[in-house]
Amino acid sequence: MTDFLPYGRQSMTGDDLAAVVEVLRGDRLTTGPAVARFESDLAAHTGGTPTVCVTSGTAALHVAYAAAGIGEGDEVVTSPMTFVATASTALLHGATVVFADIEPDTGNLDPEAAKAALSPRTAVVAAVDYAGHPAELDDLRAVADSAGALLLEDAAHSLGGSWHGRAVGSLADLTTFSFFPTKNVTTAEGGAVATPSAALIEAARAFREHGLVREAARQRTPDEGGWHQEVHTLGLNYRLPDVLCALGSSQLRRLWAFKRRRAELHARYDAALADVAEVRTPARRPGADPMWHLYPLRVLDGARGALYDHLHRRGIGVQVTYLPVYRHPVFADLGYRPGLCPNAERFYSQQLSLPLFADLTDSDVDRVCAEIRSFFGVT
Ligand SMILES: *Cc1c(COP(=O)(O)O)cnc(C)c1O
Repeated sequence: MTDFLPYGRQSMTGDDLAAVVEVLRGDRLTTGPAVARFESDLAAHTGGTPTVCVTSGTAALHVAYAAAGIGEGDEVVTSPMTFVATASTALLHGATVVFADIEPDTGNLDPEAAKAALSPRTAVVAAVDYAGHPAELDDLRAVADSAGALLLEDAAHSLGGSWHGRAVGSLADLTTFSFFPTKNVTTAEGGAVATPSAALIEAARAFREHGLVREAARQRTPDEGGWHQEVHTLGLNYRLPDVLCALGSSQLRRLWAFKRRRAELHARYDAALADVAEVRTPARRPGADPMWHLYPLRVLDGARGALYDHLHRRGIGVQVTYLPVYRHPVFADLGYRPGLCPNAERFYSQQLSLPLFADLTDSDVDRVCAEIRSFFGVT
């Protein structure tokens, strides 16, 4: 029996470890200089769009929606083919989530469906770059603009990708990233918001840190004394510590190497599975330069569950991404019904994420493909 192969995992080098140790030996474990450094290193990969780093991708979404100012009475139109946080963080602000169906090929939010879901209350249209393949961001921009809504891009999968030559992070009003270990670069836990708007950056920074105002020029009673700081808006502590920011800056130096390797592995799966009639390899649209975070295979004829069990028995940790968000009991209890988005339901019933991470070897891919081929009796 060979070792268990996970569907995703981090890639660490001695440089990554050294960057962390250097901060641990220094004075500032958090709120120090590594934070601004990581934010500017990150901006070099968002087409220059300024960023605010936070403690997770979930925190990034919570912060982005806070910056957008959503609350009770506002609606967020989004895709159900995502991790629950894209929707749950909007609900936590008191907003209502309206799910619109996905494109059957990419699994990304369908602009036509998003348009049909608009109402006078729509405040945000939230797209997800599923598997690292950018959503139809030009069409979704037009949809958001037509409603006077902000466009948010959950780019937890797609840091390093681009759409018609423009970097992910420079396309939406608010873009969010995750640095969880399975994502494209990691800080263990971590995330960030990117936005070209000075007002939204300021609002994001405020929510990250209790709404604290330290500059005297903006305070109501600046003459209190040198110690004085004021809370002007409600917020949380979502500060990413220097220890983790230093790891993030170090990881970003390998982002292009990670992207190249993920693309190679993706292409190897495509080639090895192209002649298996029972599966469909992932789609790629013109203009999309994906950062392949997932390899979302589609398994036809109701065989997905059996293939999942078969591969797990053989030590291959495939995953299903995702249960349509509205089918989680917390959403069902709010009145969302199964079957709401038929394309998402079909996509979910066929979907299987194969192992994909930078340190995966060619022979790992060959082993996964050999197991899939033998499962279907293809030689
Ligand atoms: C991972 C992920 C998140 C949440 O990120 P965390 O860092 O795990 O909190 C949000 N949206 C999507 C699409 C994700 O894949």
